[in-house]
Amino acid sequence: MAVQPIDQFATTLPADKRASVYQSTKTTHEKRTKLLFDQFPDPNRLRQLAGDIKQHAIENLDTLLPQVEARLRANGAQVHWAATAESACETVLRIMQARGAKRMVKAKTMVSEEIELAHYLEKHGMEALETDLGEFIVQIDDDHPSHIVRPIIHKNRREIATSFEREGLGAYNDDPATITQRARVFLRHKYLAADVGLTGANFVSAESGRIVLVTNEGNSRFCLAATKCHIALVGIEKIVPRDRDLGVLLNLLGRSGTAQDLTVYTEFISGPKSPAQPDGPEEMHVIFVDNGRTEVLASECREILRCIRCGACLNVCPVYRQASGHAYRSVYPGPVGAVLSPLLARDKFPQLADLPKASSLCGACHEVCPVNIPIPDLLLRLRNRAKEESVPSPGTPPMGAWALMASQPTAWKAALAGGKLMNYVPTKLIPVPALQAWAEKRELPDWRGGEFRKWLRNRRR
Ligand code: SF4
Repeated sequence: MAVQPIDQFATTLPADKRASVYQSTKTTHEKRTKLLFDQFPDPNRLRQLAGDIKQHAIENLDTLLPQVEARLRANGAQVHWAATAESACETVLRIMQARGAKRMVKAKTMVSEEIELAHYLEKHGMEALETDLGEFIVQIDDDHPSHIVRPIIHKNRREIATSFEREGLGAYNDDPATITQRARVFLRHKYLAADVGLTGANFVSAESGRIVLVTNEGNSRFCLAATKCHIALVGIEKIVPRDRDLGVLLNLLGRSGTAQDLTVYTEFISGPKSPAQPDGPEEMHVIFVDNGRTEVLASECREILRCIRCGACLNVCPVYRQASGHAYRSVYPGPVGAVLSPLLARDKFPQLADLPKASSLCGACHEVCPVNIPIPDLLLRLRNRAKEESVPSPGTPPMGAWALMASQPTAWKAALAGGKLMNYVPTKLIPVPALQAWAEKRELPDWRGGEFRKWLRNRRR
C-alpha cells in the first residue's frame, strides 16, 4: 500500500516542530472558543448569518463586480481584471514600469502568494519586499508560509535569530523583542525608499467601494504612508454587498483567527489622495484576480469561496496539527486548503487529489468556521470527483475487502483475533505487505477489540 504524500511529510516532521504547531494551534483555538461563547449568546447564529452574507455575495458576483468597479472608479481608483496568475503579475509589472518604479513594499496577501508575485517581480528586476514580520522571515529564508494567519508557525526563535544574523541584521540574539526591533528598523528605511505599496483586501464593499484591510502590525499602513502608488490585489470572492455586512464579518474574523475582539488595525480605504482626503498615495489600482475562482463558483464546492482566511479550521484540525502546513504542498494549508488548493489547481487536480482524503471527517473545521462552510461535505464531493475522474488513489484502504470481512461473522471473528496479535508481532513480521507498510507509519494503541461482543453475550444471559 503506497503512502499518501501528506503522510510522508508528517512522518518526517521533527517532533519539536510538531509539538510547537500542536501547542500553538490548540491554544489559539481554545481562546477563540472561550471568547466567542463568553461574548455572544449564540455564536452559531452569527456564523450562520456571516455564511449567508458571503454565500449571497458569491452567488451574485455577476451584479456585484460591475457595481464595485463603478464605485471604485467613482472614488478615483483604476480597476483591472486578471483572469490568470500570469495576467495579474503582468498587470502589476506594467503599472510599476509605467511609473518607472523599482521598489515595492508588500503587506501580507494570500493572493500574491498564490500567483507568486514576489518571485515574478524579482525575475523582472524589481524589488518586492514583504513587510509582515512572518512573511519577511519566510522571504529571507526562501521558505513558504505554513499557516494562513501565522506564516512561520513552523519556526522557532533560534532559527529566526540565525537567519537575521546571516542577513546582516545583527549578531545572534533570539530575544523576540530584539528580533522584532531589528526587523522594524530595517523595514522603516525600506518603507521610505519604496515607490509602490501593495496590499490585498480582506473585504471590498460593493456599496461604497471601500477596501477593508486588517493587520496586527500596522505594516499595511506603512506600505501606503510614503509610497505614491497603491496596488490592491483582490480575489473576486472578497466582495461583500453592503458596508453594514462588515460589522458581522469583522466581529468574527479577529475572534476566529487570533482570538482578538478586533485585529489591532482595521483600515477602510476609499480611494487615492484627493482634495477631500489629502493623505495617502496619489494613484490607486485595484486588480481583481480570478485565477480559477469562476470555475470553483461553477463547481459543486462553491461554498469554499465564502472563506475569509481566518485560519480557525487549521487550528482545530487534528491532521494539520500533526502534519503542519507544508504537507499540503500549496499556499492554502489545512482543511480550507484541502478543498481550495485542488480546485484552484485545475488541470493539476490529480496531483493534489490526496488532500481531500487528509481528513477524518470529524467535522471540527465546520464547527469553527465563521462563515459556516460545510468543509467535510466538500471534502467528500472532491473525493467523489477523484473517483469519477479515476485519479489514482494510493493509500486508499481496500473497502471491498473490508465489506466482505464485516459481513461474514466467521471472517470478522478471525480478524478480531488477528487484530489482537498486531500488538505483539513486530512490524517486519506482518505477513501482509500492505498491512506492514501501513503499520510502519503508525503507533498502534493497545488492542481493546472484542469487548462489545463479550458485553452483548453477557447481557443476553
Ligand atoms: S474555511 Fe472557514 S475556518 Fe477555514 S480559513 Fe476559511 S473562513 Fe476560516
